[in-house]
Amino acid sequence: MSLIRSDTQLNQKSYYEVSVQRPDALAPLEDTLDADVVVVGAGFSGLSAALELAQRGLSVVVLEADRIGSGASGRNGGQAIVGYASGMGPFEQQLGAADAQRAWDMSIDAIDLIDARIAAHGIECDRVKGYVYVADSPRKAFALHEEMEGLKRRGIAVDWAEGADLPRLINSPRYVAAGREQCSGHLHPLKYALGLARAAQAAGVRIFEHTPVTALQRGATLVASTPKGQVRARFGVLAGNCMLPEYGPRVAPEVAPRIMPVGTYIVGTAPLDPELCARLIPRNAAVCDNNFVLDYFRFSADARLLFGGRVSYTTRTPTRLEDLMRRRMGLVFPQLGNVPIEYVWGGFVDISMNRAPDFGRLGDNLYYLQGFSGHGVALTGLAGKLVAEAVAGQAERFDVYARLKHRRFPGGALLRTPSLALGMLWHRLRDVL
Ligand SMILES: Cc1cc2nc3c(=O)[nH]c(=O)nc-3n(C[C@H](O)[C@H](O)[C@H](O)COP(=O)(O)OP(=O)(O)OC[C@H]3O[C@@H](n4cnc5c(N)ncnc54)[C@H](O)[C@@H]3O)c2cc1C
Repeated sequence: MSLIRSDTQLNQKSYYEVSVQRPDALAPLEDTLDADVVVVGAGFSGLSAALELAQRGLSVVVLEADRIGSGASGRNGGQAIVGYASGMGPFEQQLGAADAQRAWDMSIDAIDLIDARIAAHGIECDRVKGYVYVADSPRKAFALHEEMEGLKRRGIAVDWAEGADLPRLINSPRYVAAGREQCSGHLHPLKYALGLARAAQAAGVRIFEHTPVTALQRGATLVASTPKGQVRARFGVLAGNCMLPEYGPRVAPEVAPRIMPVGTYIVGTAPLDPELCARLIPRNAAVCDNNFVLDYFRFSADARLLFGGRVSYTTRTPTRLEDLMRRRMGLVFPQLGNVPIEYVWGGFVDISMNRAPDFGRLGDNLYYLQGFSGHGVALTGLAGKLVAEAVAGQAERFDVYARLKHRRFPGGALLRTPSLALGMLWHRLRDVL
């Protein structure tokens, strides 16, 4: 099987994997099953869809090629962010002001949904509210200020700081300005994914691990084939993210070229002095800069700095990753330059060409969810809920997204070509200006 080289390896030294107690692996599918809905992929999107569908009384089977949350959902920065990676531009330009506003409101619903599920299903996942956006040059501070004014116009209160006032929000020599809001925040993503899976199972969802879907026959009845079994269902949800075409190249060849897998990486330090943590990032916010290749970081519940950044457009893991990440981390917090790094991991973000989410239908009974573009922690939950609404005959909210137009990346199925890497170089160069 031609998996994106290094993907499984990338999850082997993950802080998240060692800080959860995974239940025993669920048995692979070795049977023929009938269900109302077959879901491909047990990340946030697939689990959310499965939970919502089961809560509406439908019988649901989830097929997961690896383990629950082993993809991006169990590896990410844990930053649950309001809004969209694309900004509101594609929504306003393509859908008009009213539907753009609906899309904005739904991004707030996505955050609320996380908290509602945590409360409803008793999911312990180290949830914290509070988010700080930072800029590392006057030019970027200007852009950030505009962005914060935009948040305010949409009703989000923002606390702005610059110059001598900055340490109120973040204590780093790297940044010149910052804005804090209280809607976004962070959580332990793998704990949350496992909690969602437990909730889905309690609602009757059957989940099979180590069960890749290698082919999907379409029609009034969908037939999802796996190495030792199959599922026949009236509806299907493709929630396989970047790995979907890797496990099942023929499952949905028409949507795969609309996203590109971009590698992004995180390091986890040894536990720090909690007082130092409170000085570096007051009130334990998650932080993200506004560069094109961005740094994103936060503290874990056991006071480790989880520092993310760096990207690969070729799907190859950068060499000397730990050193590179340490250098970036040292620029932000020089006091941590010599702190031991105990974990290094990464994964692939599903970037769409315009960075807006790409949800839609193939025929009238097969839904797909992709293109979260680095904003999936919150948005995946909503996406799953919208699919369930659509299957139940209420497609109005799903269709706000389905009406967005998306272009394919040029140059082949997954486009990991040097020409793209070159194209991205321009944006990376702008980051240092
Ligand atoms: C390192 C990293 C940091 C990130 N940081 C953030 C962040 O801080 N904030 C944020 O909002 N977003 C972040 N993201 C993005 C976010 O994690 C994703 O948008 C989100 O998790 C996508 O969820 P998903 O369920 O769609 O995909 P995934 O979690 O990738 O799940 C897809 C699942 O489908 C399975 N699968 C694929 N194909 C098949 C098949 N044919 N048959 C069966 N199973 C299949 C895979 O094994 C996988 O488990 C980050 C991503 C990464 C990798």
